[in-house]
Amino acid sequence: MNMEIRKTEERDLPEVLAIYRYARTFMREHGNPRQWGDKWPPEALIREDIRRGKSYVCEADGRVEATFFYDEGENVEPAYSVIDGSFTGPARYGVVHRIAASENGHGAGSFCVNWAVSQCGNLRIDTHPDNLIMQHMLQKNGFRYCGIVHIPEDDDPRYAYEKVVRCGERYYLKNELLTRYHDKEWGKPEHDEQKLYEMFVLELFQAGVSWELLLRKRENFRSAFDNFDAEKIAAYGPEKIDALMQDPGIIRNRRKIEAAIGNARVVLKLREEFGSFSNYLWHFTENRSIPERMDAVTDQLSDDVSKDMKKRGIRFAGSVTVFSFLQAVGILYCHDPECLCFHRDHAETFAQNHYQPENRVSGGRNDR
Ligand SMILES: [Zn+2]
Repeated sequence: MNMEIRKTEERDLPEVLAIYRYARTFMREHGNPRQWGDKWPPEALIREDIRRGKSYVCEADGRVEATFFYDEGENVEPAYSVIDGSFTGPARYGVVHRIAASENGHGAGSFCVNWAVSQCGNLRIDTHPDNLIMQHMLQKNGFRYCGIVHIPEDDDPRYAYEKVVRCGERYYLKNELLTRYHDKEWGKPEHDEQKLYEMFVLELFQAGVSWELLLRKRENFRSAFDNFDAEKIAAYGPEKIDALMQDPGIIRNRRKIEAAIGNARVVLKLREEFGSFSNYLWHFTENRSIPERMDAVTDQLSDDVSKDMKKRGIRFAGSVTVFSFLQAVGILYCHDPECLCFHRDHAETFAQNHYQPENRVSGGRNDR
């Protein structure tokens, strides 16, 4: 069967109402008489869903076989703000309500929820404790039970479920710290001068140690390195280096500390030449995020940026380190299209981008 999801239109209303009538009968006959009773969802609500563009139908071989409400956004379902239990995904999520399939719609329910997951990477949904069929369908599709919520329509509790899709299970999601970093920072196209510089310094220290260790020491780095103020770091002298070498909170590696100071001086020059460190970094791609494989280690862009950085006197700027840095700040965009971050970043707009070395307006042209 060839199934496809589209928005519900006015003309679909008779079929949609028929599906809900069938679903209420089916639920009543299968031990779940209370979830929708005799008249939920009311026609006025369905019409409102359609008007708002939040109602969808599943067509199978051209016939409407299922329908549901879908919406997404920051805390999009107020009823889920209180839960006896916990959701684990971030606050931006999608939600499905009022899902029902026709008598012929075998597999249409799964198809609909999987479509909804593919829209947001982070889907929440609830069902009645008596709706064993729905609970089974959700579990079969990889949803996790999160706890009990209450909805405004009636006093019965509802079981809440979520499905959270993240890329990089192998690389970044070993624990909560790394997961939070993945969700909130890694790969997000970054233009903030301070933030870019902080990541740049951390990447330098990362060479040879784990990123997780760096994240754990990050606050210590912030206080030891004057909150990553490039001007202050550029002025560090021998006593400050000695003091840093005594600081057990950071990574005590003299070569890296000296490189960080030297690099800060280059960053100040870049700010003079390009207006900001951000302008310098983004000019290589003309301000675009370039899609790249997460498991790559270097590419043409990182080779070119590395070469340019080295020419300007930046140390620890090998292509591997530069690649990792460009990934972290979203100049190379590596979130998987299934990942909740990809949806958050509206990454479809990146899909047309490819790195072309000739895009650069200056720098690195006379390398060869
Ligand atoms: Zn991701």
